[in-house]
Amino acid sequence: MREIFSCSDSATVVYVKSVLEQAGVVCLIRNSKLGEISMTNLYVEKDSDDADAKQLIKFHETDIRWFRPDWSCLSCWEVNSGKIEMCAKCETMRPGIHKMSIYEWLEMIRPKPGLYLGKRSIERLDMLLAGIGFGLGMVGLSLRDAHDFHRFHDWVAKRLGFYESTSGWCNMIREKSASDEEALNQFFVLLNEFRKESACEGL
Ligand SMILES: [Zn+2]
Repeated sequence: MREIFSCSDSATVVYVKSVLEQAGVVCLIRNSKLGEISMTNLYVEKDSDDADAKQLIKFHETDIRWFRPDWSCLSCWEVNSGKIEMCAKCETMRPGIHKMSIYEWLEMIRPKPGLYLGKRSIERLDMLLAGIGFGLGMVGLSLRDAHDFHRFHDWVAKRLGFYESTSGWCNMIREKSASDEEALNQFFVLLNEFRKESACEGL
């Protein structure tokens, strides 16, 4: 038995299990703790399935990353689509989601980056965002729309002509700008474009 996948969201692990089992790989689910965070771990029963399973996970990476199960509101029991993070009926947040949107947070930084970042720097913005994500993660939360914002990596890669997005939006934008400060300005210009396009996609 070998561990091949783990995630704090158990529904995602169940989804990965179903992907593997459709391909004939027998899997088991166990729970564990990573500090304060509850993790769900997926194991292949036969060690010899390890390589196949990893390849399948890699192949379905995008589906897995974007998988969002439907969820029940803890206040009114309305079942909501996995695509939304606030209850459609009573506006209670999905469990594990902080009520502040990552976009609201970025819009707060935009007019006064020096105040929040110390200097106008895309690298500082990236670090602060990672720090917030890490800190909230420690208490089992993430910012609203953080999942949506994750698409910004791929979007920037396409927009700026990078072959892949693995280096992340911060490095890609920085590489195409003359200075860290210019990169920060460019970030907010691109963010506007990204959000405008996303708004149209939902129609
Ligand atoms: Zn509700």
